[in-house]
Amino acid sequence: MVDRGGPLGELVQWADLSASLYILGHNLTFSTSQLHLHSVIGAAPGRGSCPIQRPLTFDLIYTDYNGLTHLQGAMGLAFQHYKCRFRIVDSFGTEPAFNLGTYARTHGYKTHWGSWSLQPKQYMTMFPHTPDNSFLGFVSEEALLHPEDREEEMEPVPIRKDNIAVVYGKQDYMWQGKEIYLEAITRKMETHGTVYQPPGRTAQLPSNIVNHGLLAQDQFLQLLKRAKVFVGLGFPYEGPAPLEAIALGCVFLQPRFQPPHSSENSNFYKGKPTTRKVFSQHPYAEEFIGRPFVWTVDMTNATEVQQTVTAILRTEVKPFTPREFTCEGMLERVHAYITHQDFCSASFSTWPPESTLRVHLGPLGQSCVHVCRHAFLVCEPALFHHLNSPTVFNRLGLSCSSIDQDVDNHLFPSYSPWGRRCGLQRDRLLFSCAGSDPAHRRLCPCRAHQAGQVALCPECI
Ligand code: UDP
Repeated sequence: MVDRGGPLGELVQWADLSASLYILGHNLTFSTSQLHLHSVIGAAPGRGSCPIQRPLTFDLIYTDYNGLTHLQGAMGLAFQHYKCRFRIVDSFGTEPAFNLGTYARTHGYKTHWGSWSLQPKQYMTMFPHTPDNSFLGFVSEEALLHPEDREEEMEPVPIRKDNIAVVYGKQDYMWQGKEIYLEAITRKMETHGTVYQPPGRTAQLPSNIVNHGLLAQDQFLQLLKRAKVFVGLGFPYEGPAPLEAIALGCVFLQPRFQPPHSSENSNFYKGKPTTRKVFSQHPYAEEFIGRPFVWTVDMTNATEVQQTVTAILRTEVKPFTPREFTCEGMLERVHAYITHQDFCSASFSTWPPESTLRVHLGPLGQSCVHVCRHAFLVCEPALFHHLNSPTVFNRLGLSCSSIDQDVDNHLFPSYSPWGRRCGLQRDRLLFSCAGSDPAHRRLCPCRAHQAGQVALCPECI
């Protein structure tokens, strides 16, 4: 689908992961066939379940959910032994409740994906969706720097723009039903698209749209450089293009979702191993970048859209790239993961160190993702084990009339005011930043993070 408007975001991520590993000096082998995979992992070809030969031919294996199934077939019993060395590139993430097979089956979290019972940080996501997983990310275009500036004063400068908007949507079905929204934009700006046109058919778009067809990436970026606004249509969710647009000096205009999209009401999220509720097309852009770079509107309200476009046209924005999406930010993050993440050791993780822990007791019904973010911190699941004890409840002034430690519940450790019940987590794979319910006040391990690099704490690299 690469040439036909299909998703490219995951390919961007694989390319940047591969480049990062190579630049960091690792020996890298790519395997794209089962036969080659057998030779790479040291198993004899044609025999489904043979043990891995020694010495081991790899330290880490980066794969995806489909690759996991192949590896299981190729490695047989050795799969269980070596699974701590796997890293799963999983754009939308896998929450702990879906990951632990036994729990998922008995508590209604069983989906097509998930149930591999890995450590949740082994899943590597495209954006920092839930801190239960490792945010791998990718590299966006970098905000342009003025060539004459000395290095320490490097500042992005505004780019000269034409009065044009570029619409984010490579296939024409993404444009359907968005007429009110598009009309409000085309009234104020010349509007361009990069929509794939199948041979012998023109894309079904409003007549006043200048369609370039699917562009090669360098041409697409040239177009963004000329544009003032990059317009989201609500789909695709959470791709790289809005970050590239913002890096090239565009404002990203996108629809708000009310009610939010989730596996309960969206075909796309259905069956994905996450309970996340998505309040706009690109929650990272909305929550981590925000105004003046990102404006989120009710797409069905023509007045609001027009007023927003007017306000955007009056605002001058400079190119901007969050540090975590720069080359340096990605290399720093991948290097930190490779250096510090050890999922093979039986003892609890010591990274980040306990000194980074900030314990927060959440209100009823809030997940630790929200509790920590509310305090301008981030939930750090590797620190959960430090607060999973009755003494921590005491220290917070909570007197427990009973302590539940024999029940599986991914919301534990938590406090339930009805009956003053304290719950302790008994399975480390169930420590979960995600997850909330109205009967539990969650005990949350929060930590600070570097400016523009949410995956890393200031004192831990
Ligand atoms: N892109 C491209 N040509 C186009 C439109 C987009 O090369 O006409 C690139 C864009 O620069 C980005 C990648 O496609 O790096 C993925 O973009 P998107 O955000 O659309 O994510 P997807 O939905 O494809 O995963």
